[in-house]
Amino acid sequence: MNYRKLFPILGFVAIFFTACKAPADQTAGITADPEPYEYALVLHGGAGNMNFQSVPEPYQDMFKHALDSALQLGLDVLKEGGMSIDAVEVVIRCMEDNPLFNAGKGAVFTSEGKNELDASIMTGQDLNAGAVAGVTDIRHPISAARAVMEQSEHVMMAGPGASVFAEQVGLEIVDPSYFYTKKRFESFQKAVVREKHGTVGCVALDKAGNLCAGTSTGGMTNKKYGRIGDSPIIGAGTYANNATCGVSATGHGEYFIRWTVAHQISVLMQYKGYDVERAASEVVELTLVEEGGDGGVICLDKFGRPAMVTNTSGMFRAYGNSEGERFVAIFK
Ligand code: ASP
Repeated sequence: MNYRKLFPILGFVAIFFTACKAPADQTAGITADPEPYEYALVLHGGAGNMNFQSVPEPYQDMFKHALDSALQLGLDVLKEGGMSIDAVEVVIRCMEDNPLFNAGKGAVFTSEGKNELDASIMTGQDLNAGAVAGVTDIRHPISAARAVMEQSEHVMMAGPGASVFAEQVGLEIVDPSYFYTKKRFESFQKAVVREKHGTVGCVALDKAGNLCAGTSTGGMTNKKYGRIGDSPIIGAGTYANNATCGVSATGHGEYFIRWTVAHQISVLMQYKGYDVERAASEVVELTLVEEGGDGGVICLDKFGRPAMVTNTSGMFRAYGNSEGERFVAIFK
């Protein structure tokens, strides 16, 4: 037998098997592009360690109803061909007006018994962003964040300066006592939860394929005066990039800032090819758990697929899309 003749054949066989094996290894965790939804929207109303005892049934129904109505408002905008930024703003304004949530009207108190609110918004087509921090008299901080993005040359404005700007662009300024729903809050707190969660956030994908993410909060209960959390920090509490995903976070803000959680999820998708669920789980259920940072995220990828991941026992959340799929949930 002429063994020399066998070499090219063996070489071919070796190359064939290597070629068959390589893509499988390289694509671990990478899924083929799915058919995108025409539009989709996901929202949250905060995360925390809650259970059926700490959130009794009548309150669960109140929350579910509030989440579902906010979802509907956003889906209506998207169905009509509206922009994702309009859907996000409408959803968050509605939640800011609802004292159930720790944002706008229902904002928690600082250690001094004041309300200092943070919000941010980002659009995925141009990586444009706006934020306000530590504001005390703007009824809808999310609209102020949008105004900073669209009507100023800045990304973030804070405190009294942000209020002057908001008034100049025609936003509603209220007396700080507007947020002082203490009586209501205390009775609510006794009845429902020991520590109030309820930061709100929303991510939307519109028919033009543009992602937008926004977050609004009163911050952490009992926070020190002047403390700013992750919610108004682009890359920590909020991020959107049409190439990857939109993210809104809720939880112990200091950890979300230090681990740039929202941006980290986008980066895992961009550079490692992870799908949105895997990227969100890696950051929230591995990194944050190792470090001791409680909280969760809601995300939408560029196809409109959601990831709603929390390392706490609950996260108020809802999702809907153009195919009529709809989902409202509280516990894990
Ligand atoms: N992340 C918010 C903050 O640290 C609070 C929260 O989401 O519950 O200000």
